[in-house]
Amino acid sequence: MLALKALDSICMDKFDPWDISNYKISSCTFKENFRTKDKNYNNNSLIASDMFILEFNCSINNQILCEKMNYTFQLATKEISRVFKLNTEINLKVNFESLNEPTLLGSTIPSRFIKLISEEDNVARYYPQALVKQFNNYDSQNFLKYDIIMSINSDQNLWFEGDGQINKNQSDAFTLVIHEIMHGLGFYSLWDDSIEQSKALSPFLSFNSNTFEGFIESIFDKYVYVVKDDDDDDDNDDNSNLESFLNLTAKLNTIGPPGIQVYDKKEFMNKVLSSPQWEEVARYVYNKSNNKEHSIKFTPNNYSINDIFLETRIDYNPSSSLCHVSYHDFANSSDFLVTYLHDSGLTKNDFLIRGGNYSGGVIGPRLLAIMSSLGYETKLDIQPDFSVITTTSSTTSASSSTSTSTTSTSINSLSSNGSNNNFKNFNGWKLVLIILELSIFLFKNYSKHRLIRTDKN
Ligand SMILES: [Zn+2]
Repeated sequence: MLALKALDSICMDKFDPWDISNYKISSCTFKENFRTKDKNYNNNSLIASDMFILEFNCSINNQILCEKMNYTFQLATKEISRVFKLNTEINLKVNFESLNEPTLLGSTIPSRFIKLISEEDNVARYYPQALVKQFNNYDSQNFLKYDIIMSINSDQNLWFEGDGQINKNQSDAFTLVIHEIMHGLGFYSLWDDSIEQSKALSPFLSFNSNTFEGFIESIFDKYVYVVKDDDDDDDNDDNSNLESFLNLTAKLNTIGPPGIQVYDKKEFMNKVLSSPQWEEVARYVYNKSNNKEHSIKFTPNNYSINDIFLETRIDYNPSSSLCHVSYHDFANSSDFLVTYLHDSGLTKNDFLIRGGNYSGGVIGPRLLAIMSSLGYETKLDIQPDFSVITTTSSTTSASSSTSTSTTSTSINSLSSNGSNNNFKNFNGWKLVLIILELSIFLFKNYSKHRLIRTDKN
């Protein structure tokens, strides 16, 4: 059990899934300390019901499509409620709407991040409201109505359970929805390039009025580590080849330092950008996130699951990089769900078969370990099924007994192929899910990975 304090009672609120730069820092007084739940739970007390309250707004003139999507959300939230032990209902607001944008699938934000300080390391981090609600002693006075806000593009060609044969250019709605909800629950890094686009990464730079509060990470970032190269500057004497985001953030927080009053923010930002810390940390992490292989990973708390590499193999993109597991490594595994590409032409069952028939369902063991690290309780035992399939000839012929190989083997065998060959083994098109931190910068810039359809033929 871990105590969390909300000493300075700061919240960060977001409003628009398509504009993550639109946020507000607000005061939100919490009266009590939080306490995470013990991991041990009584299986007899499993909550079977759907723990989500869905507000589903369908603004299109197609009643059948509206009903199919609404029903898919109900299936998805039931599945999440089956896997995670949620003790407080989560409010999910969904707009299923025509975005007049042929390439976007959807976007999701946690509506409120609450800054809490852990007694474990005395570090302040932003926790998504949906997670804080699951802790003991939370103060309901200070929650926004919705925990998660989501927009799904109705212009997309989606496949629903019961639709019959899936077409190669259709995307499975069920897995899309669960993927999105995971971001809303906290699969969400606050490291991005919002300060200096395409050059440097840092955690959220927080001001409360004129007070510089420092660079603040999300609870997700607590478990993220950079894998150092031999030629990386290394002023640590810990003989480890890993450097935590935590340490890197601490280095950035020697700028300022936090707590100072800043009356000229432009001048202050110039000081940040010209500081040696910025060069040492922000540009370093950017380089690690941009077209690098196995350079940044999530290391779950209390699990012996290693090498959950985050997406770094592509041109850095805040909507795709770091906030997903590596597509190259995990698309053919039991953790296909949280890659930045959502393969079209595959149903939920096709994904499961291709991933090796993980018995737990679409929420794979690595994802379970990640969400458990954030503080969610899981109902499922995490199975030691961390295989990656490398030689699937077709999506229907894969089986768990014949197609598994070790993670390290698959990484080695694929690494020489080049990134363009990621698509080699799949039939159909690829749709890039742009789910998450979609910045205005990218919104205006039709670049790279916003959403790519790759016609294999
Ligand atoms: Zn995503």
